[in-house]
Amino acid sequence: MNQEIAETFIRFFAQKYFSHLFPQEILDILQTVPDTSNESLEVKALLDKWDSKISIQSHWEGVLEDYRSDRELALLQLYKRGLFNDCQLHFQYEDNGQKECIFNPFGLVIRNENFFFVGCFDNNREPMLLSLEKIINIKLLDSKAIASESDFHLANYAETYLNHPVSPEIIETLIVEFPKKAYFYVKSHPIKCEQLTITEPQDTPGHFLLEAKNVANTIRLHQWFSGFHDDAQILSPVYLRRLINRSYIDQLTNLYNRKAFDRLGHREIEQSLRNQEHIFSLLIMDIDHFKTINDLHGHNFGDDVLIKVSECFRDYDAIRYGGEEFVVLLSNTGAENAQKAAERIRNNIAELLLKNETGQRVPITISIGIAEFPRHLPKKDQQALENLGKTKLTDKTKNGLMMAITEQADKALYYAKTAGRNQSAIFQDSIA
Ligand code: GH3
Ligand code: MG
Ligand code: MG
Repeated sequence: MNQEIAETFIRFFAQKYFSHLFPQEILDILQTVPDTSNESLEVKALLDKWDSKISIQSHWEGVLEDYRSDRELALLQLYKRGLFNDCQLHFQYEDNGQKECIFNPFGLVIRNENFFFVGCFDNNREPMLLSLEKIINIKLLDSKAIASESDFHLANYAETYLNHPVSPEIIETLIVEFPKKAYFYVKSHPIKCEQLTITEPQDTPGHFLLEAKNVANTIRLHQWFSGFHDDAQILSPVYLRRLINRSYIDQLTNLYNRKAFDRLGHREIEQSLRNQEHIFSLLIMDIDHFKTINDLHGHNFGDDVLIKVSECFRDYDAIRYGGEEFVVLLSNTGAENAQKAAERIRNNIAELLLKNETGQRVPITISIGIAEFPRHLPKKDQQALENLGKTKLTDKTKNGLMMAITEQADKALYYAKTAGRNQSAIFQDSIA
């Protein structure tokens, strides 16, 4: 290994992981200058090998993954430009309504999934912190920015400010489910709260429940969550789950996504294996003629429909299963009772008052297929389930069983569609 290879390494990984930190000017140069990395095949192989061996997660998630919207990235770039060139910026931001100010940038702080702009307003040299999320628009000004006081220290400021928000919101009861492998993490990283209990519930073996009282909702707490590498599920409060367990949440509708579906499904199947009496129903719901709605009123209107329809599932742990398909798992509920819930949802959706651009009402309907576990499983899967007895289930088996019951519900859905749509149907052998 020589110095050139070492520099190629550093450049490759710095660009891959830290491009958010660089002034745009630097990135522009890298773009225009042809890649001088006369990288030999040997260097490429070395890079690939190392690249396949590292994975940075946890606190860096969101910083590294470019999931941010183009709008946010553009704002960030403008901010960095002002910061790097000591220029004042005009901010339009959200703070109990829209506000405006002239901002003198002192620094950029990256914490967890958030970017924070630190600087001072107008001519007041008192440092302030604004999160990127609150920024609506930025304009770069020609005027020179006011510098921070000489004793200002960005990292210290961020540490104090972010860990001691003016009045942190208090979460009365925080309930987190985490797997055995995270037990050590929880024990070695206690959170500040008034009362903490950890139990291992009977019905979810391999998982623990942490219950904490009066926890301050600070950035620290969010960091603590990211230390789980997505292994923890926040059961309560729900708003925090939507914020934190992002990889389980569909970003358009705020419902659970497919990944969460696997988790919820596995839990049901494990319960039914341990307790013969345990049943659950699966509803699969599909918007009727959604393609036509998109075609007639545009994709944006289609997205609004998805959001409004999703709000009709708010009483349930609903999953966005596909484009315009949704699933709800109803624990301890037979198909007939599940159909009552399905009909309530269906009626709520049919009553939605959605208007297109020209103010015309666009009626939305859905069709629903229902299957009960294990009653509606195909014979061979029922047999397989019985043979499993009390043995430990593998993920593969659980996936297989979930897939089998989902397929049955899907057949019922297909039946409801062909029978005229805007209705629900329970799986029956005759429709298989
Ligand atoms: P059916 O009543 O038989 O379900 O008819 P359909 O038109 O709803 O069925 P199909 O599955 O053919 O069409 C689904 C459409 O959903 C196709 C796709 O363009 C649209 N779609 C999928 N995901 C999204 C999305 O995220 N946003 C929008 N606007 N449309 C989506
Ligand atoms: Mg569909
Ligand atoms: Mg459809």
